[in-house]
Amino acid sequence: MSHSVIKVSASVMEQMKQSYAGSLTPAVPQGAVFQAKPPGCTITAYRSGKVLFQGKNAGTEAARWGTAEAPTKKTVKKAADPLYAPPAGIASMSVIGSDEVGTGDYFGPITVACAYADKTKLSLMKELGVKDSKDLKDPQIIEIAKLLIKTIPYSLLVLKNEKYNQMQEKGMSQGKMKALLHNQAISNLLRKMNGVKPEAILIDQFAEPGIYFKHLSGRDIVKEKTFFSTKAESIHLSVAAASIIARYSFLIEMDKLSREAGMTIPKGAGPHVDEAAAKLIINKGEGALRTFTKLHFANTQKAKRLVERKRS
Ligand code: MN
Repeated sequence: MSHSVIKVSASVMEQMKQSYAGSLTPAVPQGAVFQAKPPGCTITAYRSGKVLFQGKNAGTEAARWGTAEAPTKKTVKKAADPLYAPPAGIASMSVIGSDEVGTGDYFGPITVACAYADKTKLSLMKELGVKDSKDLKDPQIIEIAKLLIKTIPYSLLVLKNEKYNQMQEKGMSQGKMKALLHNQAISNLLRKMNGVKPEAILIDQFAEPGIYFKHLSGRDIVKEKTFFSTKAESIHLSVAAASIIARYSFLIEMDKLSREAGMTIPKGAGPHVDEAAAKLIINKGEGALRTFTKLHFANTQKAKRLVERKRS
């Protein structure tokens, strides 16, 4: 069945209602202004201004009144929210930075770290080699992280896949999990800092700030002086430090998983990951995926198909 949605003004909606006066239904669905059933079409007009056309004549009826909205595509990319943009001069301030690792990896946990970089420590951190972790290889990450965790206050959370899968199966989005973890990590770090107040908190942006805070509604939210930016690692060393610590923790967890599995557990979510997952199923049974992987990723089905092919 085809359908079409348009948005109209209140006056156009009133014209529509009059035009369809002969085919109005006696009862209207919740939230609707009217419903009409002209030949080959059911029209439902909502208080929001949206009008839904269903049935074989949906397209032609809708075209009389407006232009159909694209059903799913987001049309314009919203500009960054200026309310949460980092203030000028933030690079030399005392800042808590927060970042996560592992969200796109089929194997392994999500690790979220935040780190406090006091402005008096910034030059030392540079000397330790802290910079955008994308420019660092794993051995360097490990080396720098080991020094960092002895040098600056930080907080780290590891969301293992058993828990991740439980939350995901209850309908929680990965975005919400990340928001909960960042907020928790920052709040833990503030507590550790015993009254020392950062001049700013900078989160490497993974969602629009409005959505981030919506995910946290009903909880104790750290919001004061909190800013968001994409590529925040290059905006303040605290985020680069957080990223290095999160990646270090992720590498340790992946090593543990490799030892448990008796094989190398790969990063990412590409075809090599499907192969490894298939091997894991053959060695340990399908149930092992629950503790090793983010089950809802497409890799699960791909790995199962690989196993079937190998067994037949
Ligand atoms: Mn990030």
